Amino acid sequence: MSEKQLGFDTLKVRAGYQSSDHNYAVAVPIYQTASYDLGSVERAEKLFGLEEAGFLYTRIGNPTVDVLEQRLTALDKGTGAVAVASGMAAIAYTLLNLAEGGGRILTTPQLYGGTFDAIKRLFPKFGVQVDFVENSDDPDSFRQAIGPDTKAVLIESISNPNATILDVEAIAKVAHDNGIPLVIDNTFGTPYLFDSFAHGADIIIYSATKAIGGHGTTLGGVIVENGQFNWDNGKFPHFQEPQFLLRDQNTGRERSILEVFPAAPFTTRIRLSYLAYFGASLSPFDAFLLIQGIVTLSERIDKQVSNALKIVQYLQGNDKVSWVNHPAAEGNPYKTLADKYFPKGAGSIFSFGFTGNDEQLKIFLNSVELFSYHANVGDARSLIINSPKTTHGELNAEEQILAGIKPETVRLSIGLENADDLIADLEQAFEKAFVETLV
Ligand SMILES: *Cc1c(COP(=O)(O)O)cnc(C)c1O
Repeated sequence: MSEKQLGFDTLKVRAGYQSSDHNYAVAVPIYQTASYDLGSVERAEKLFGLEEAGFLYTRIGNPTVDVLEQRLTALDKGTGAVAVASGMAAIAYTLLNLAEGGGRILTTPQLYGGTFDAIKRLFPKFGVQVDFVENSDDPDSFRQAIGPDTKAVLIESISNPNATILDVEAIAKVAHDNGIPLVIDNTFGTPYLFDSFAHGADIIIYSATKAIGGHGTTLGGVIVENGQFNWDNGKFPHFQEPQFLLRDQNTGRERSILEVFPAAPFTTRIRLSYLAYFGASLSPFDAFLLIQGIVTLSERIDKQVSNALKIVQYLQGNDKVSWVNHPAAEGNPYKTLADKYFPKGAGSIFSFGFTGNDEQLKIFLNSVELFSYHANVGDARSLIINSPKTTHGELNAEEQILAGIKPETVRLSIGLENADDLIADLEQAFEKAFVETLV
């Protein structure tokens, strides 16, 4: 049976794994090994000459990690993937692979705090400059900001913490009109809620730490591609470079990554250069835990989305709440885009405005009993946090305004508990914050 014909839920349980290739083990085995026997001198020659596919050293490939890579490739209907040790490693390797040797990345201010800080303050030191669009709600704003050195457009499918949704297809068209790829950080969307490639993405990045793993136990990152982008258009000379490593074993002619790996040049290039030499490899055990998470991805996300909708409703009816930023909230400006791009729901991570003062917010956060107060998202447990002082604390006041993060912002990541219990927990915390301070 071809994996292409199978539905999402079947693929999330089975894709990329054949038990007959692994001593008929039903669960994906953890290949806890640093290296692999080469077998014979003849086989070693073939492996190192890239004539035979096989594992050499776990830094650049491991059978357990490979299942995770194949599973995400299948879920996103891509042509290849590479897993790395964290979402930040996935972002770093992607941006370096795009703009190696110098170039610009066009993005929006609505980014994960770590990404924002990295591209604004660290990447320029490596020759990778960043431009922010003036108005991310207007695709023309992207068109105007693209220059001759722009190497890619980077956006998040659902932004953090305000659940902003962009017109992805229009932005993809702008990128492609200019010969550059659209890169989507689909961590909040997940492959279940958002079909990135169908809407024009060329590269997808995941922090698998979040909803993909889903249990708050494991760091990981994945980069997926669909083999559609034309890296041969002159803007990416490093993809056209002949390399000794990729030489033809018969003639000795050096070949480029595009010649040798035409279906998945982007992720293969990351594997052979950045993963090989910068070395942020995902451990086999962590890959196993992330695979366990994927098995229940749709069931978890469906429940989290339905829980989130109940909590959005509750917050909208609460006079201690000044606004609720979820596409399902009344009057939310992103509703039309959410209906188009997120037919199964726009996720379970969103923010609301707390009406009390700083002291009351402190009491509120200290009073929640079920919600965990911490910085992760996409966990089976519900989480709460004051973003401006924590997850987006790297941004200065001006940058927070630019990113639309108001001082009264509280972010929720809704988990798998009973929605009624979560609502009761928020209710009692509101009561404490607003009663105790009156006394
Ligand atoms: C958490 C996160 C990252 C970084 O991932 P880590 O696995 O924590 O390194 C990147 N992008 C988004 C949207 C995230 O939420």
